[in-house]
Amino acid sequence: MIKDTGAVDAASILFNLDDYRVLSVEASSTAGRTVIVEPISTEAGCPSCGVLSSRIQARPVHRVKDVACGGKDLQVWVRKRRLACLEDACKRRSFVQCTEQLPLRSRLTTRLVGEIVDAGMNELRAVTGIARATGVSWPTVMRKLTATEKTVGDVDGRHVRWLGVDEHRFRKVRYVLGTTGKVMRVEPWSIVFTDLETGTILDVVDGRRGPTVLSWIGKRPRAWRDRVRIVAMDMSAEFRKAVREALPEAEITVDHFHVVALSNRMVTAVRLRRSHETVGRRGRMTEPSYKYRKLLTCNVENMSSRQQVRLEEIIAADIELGVVYAVKEKVRELLKTTDLEAFGTAWEALEAGVRATTMPEAKSLLRTLKSWKAELQVFCVSRLTNARSEAANLTAKNMKRIGRGYRNHRNYRLRILLSTAGLRPC
Ligand SMILES: [Zn+2]
Repeated sequence: MIKDTGAVDAASILFNLDDYRVLSVEASSTAGRTVIVEPISTEAGCPSCGVLSSRIQARPVHRVKDVACGGKDLQVWVRKRRLACLEDACKRRSFVQCTEQLPLRSRLTTRLVGEIVDAGMNELRAVTGIARATGVSWPTVMRKLTATEKTVGDVDGRHVRWLGVDEHRFRKVRYVLGTTGKVMRVEPWSIVFTDLETGTILDVVDGRRGPTVLSWIGKRPRAWRDRVRIVAMDMSAEFRKAVREALPEAEITVDHFHVVALSNRMVTAVRLRRSHETVGRRGRMTEPSYKYRKLLTCNVENMSSRQQVRLEEIIAADIELGVVYAVKEKVRELLKTTDLEAFGTAWEALEAGVRATTMPEAKSLLRTLKSWKAELQVFCVSRLTNARSEAANLTAKNMKRIGRGYRNHRNYRLRILLSTAGLRPC
């Protein structure tokens, strides 16, 4: 886009820096290209008293960093104006003329800072990559990104109705030598808080599950906490306890993904146990229950007619696998319901199905589901899932891979928060 810089000469139009005029451009084989610019306006108001002045005291020349203009090897020098304050009552004797593109003492033009922040927020790029492309150092890029976080990362200013709580592995397991001389295993998990309406990550906090959730929510203002209606999480008793304590008014829902995963694990446990009971070893490719084992965790409505025949083959070979498959399908039926009446019917069907068997795996699954019944009911009515949290986690993981891992949690958190604030809601 061409901006009206107020300049009329060709070089100034090409250089296109707001409120500046190109004084001269030089090219030499040793120093490369050099451009000298100066502010167009010859007068400015004193920052202390506001009285306009155009009496020049000095013309200092400073080098600044700017966006690449016709290639990277362009040095930009600014011929500033130090103006004398004309107001006798003012204590300030002189001041340097500032513009929007070059605020006081700034070594970077505002348009270059905009480019750095834009790359940090809207693109999956490593900080070193941004630094190299813009010609500034790594700490400068990080400083500009940190300054931006203060303006976009205002958690307390957000109206969060649906809160997502999820876990995210920040880095590999580490073994650290403790103060007592003992080697300790450190699990670097982070807790991720998400606004489920927009998919924005609110915060990434290091630490143990329950106490972290409790203290993070506790730090929010009362009005913020009162606005939260539903909290979505995975089936973690520790999370649930903490949320109940911190947000007693909010409803809790569990993600159906985790419930289905739990029932699939039950099916696999029964298959493994039956293999050892019937043939005394693990399965082989000659046995249908092993050969077509993936079918046992598939949805019956998505199977082709050939796959359905194979599933029947498995069930014909071992009826217990048929029973456990039916229990798993009953759990899925339960999760498909959208009102409490249908939920009640599906729940009774599931309970009756489990009561009819003696399988310890099914009994154990039912026990778990019973302890999460209220949360499952909330899920069926609200249909609110943690999917956006999981999507945001993927963004965070991609960010980590682009940077080849992060050692500093603060920097990692900064990149995650900026990237989800910059990306459109998923
Ligand atoms: Zn003044």
